[in-house]
Amino acid sequence: MTRVDLIEMNPSELEGFFRGMGEPAYRAWQVYRWIHGHGVLHFSEMTNLPKKVRSLLESQTRIVSMDEIERQVDQEDGATKFLFRLRDGETVETVLLPQSYGNSVCVSTQAGCRMGCLFCVSTVGGLGRNLTPGEMEAQVLIAQSELGRREDGARVSHVVLMGIGEPLENYDNVLVFLKRIHEKDNLGISYRNITLSTCGLAPEIKRLASEALPITLAVSLHAPNDELRNRLMPVNKRYPLSELLPACREYAERTGRRVTFEYALINEVNDLPEHARELSRLVRGLLCHVNLIPLNPNERGLEGSRPDRVKEFARILENSGVNATVRRSLGGNIEAACGQLRRRNGREKS
Ligand code: SAH
Repeated sequence: MTRVDLIEMNPSELEGFFRGMGEPAYRAWQVYRWIHGHGVLHFSEMTNLPKKVRSLLESQTRIVSMDEIERQVDQEDGATKFLFRLRDGETVETVLLPQSYGNSVCVSTQAGCRMGCLFCVSTVGGLGRNLTPGEMEAQVLIAQSELGRREDGARVSHVVLMGIGEPLENYDNVLVFLKRIHEKDNLGISYRNITLSTCGLAPEIKRLASEALPITLAVSLHAPNDELRNRLMPVNKRYPLSELLPACREYAERTGRRVTFEYALINEVNDLPEHARELSRLVRGLLCHVNLIPLNPNERGLEGSRPDRVKEFARILENSGVNATVRRSLGGNIEAACGQLRRRNGREKS
């Protein structure tokens, strides 16, 4: 028998489900609050439900539709990385990162990816499929349950869509998910604490701008000109910098939010002083911030820049008036960078 996934249902669908079981409609709200409001992932903890209802739910439904198959904990920075198996055997990764400003969860939006970036392991096996809103929310709720009950203190305060997949390719589901975790009855995560990272799908960036939600947009830039970006990121052939940059500008103007440009520094590829100067000319005048991160080494064979190169790159940007920070690679010790755990597990689908 296929079990019903409760997390995928909105309140009115849940009402229909409980009516079908001969239960009153308010049960739907009780269950909705337990799952989405309290992040309770076991029926035994839903204490205001009669035992009979709980055991019915136990036998006919599931709350989340994924199982943890592996986890790694970074002893240094406290990051926990989960590998989950979805119902159809696809696997995705999620990272819980305790930060000075709160607890952040890095969510996957697709199983696999078809964007083909040269340095990224998530894309190696291609795209499996889009994740549903419930599968994205489940990643946050499971991370929250690691921290304990929300009302008891530690909370997930930040969500970043920087896991596996291209969120703007799964636009509709991502928006349903983000609106859901923002709701008061749900996790109540402020839009300002949500970061969506994209490889640069210009039309969808404009579409997101038109939603006028104060979400932080991060754009994986990684190169200051089309020639180099075409080589590193095939998506640039579809949406070159002359389309991407105006879309980012529009986003900043419509939302009033500073756009973050992600720039992974690759040894001798995109980390020369000339690249820094070119980058500063490219983004000057835009409400933005550049995040520099030495490339995480992986099976794709490219090398990260040396610390002195990284520093010099940042200095050139700062000197020309571009705001830049060097990000240390959180979770680097536990293969927290995109898709490595999933890859090492030997298959995209299990
Ligand atoms: N598809 C989205 C989000 C997922 S990747 C995007 O492209 O933005 C999250 C970030 O990790 C992106 O900036 C991506 O370019 C970067 N990334 C991928 N592989 C990396 C590596 N080996 N080292 C450093 N950053 C990497």
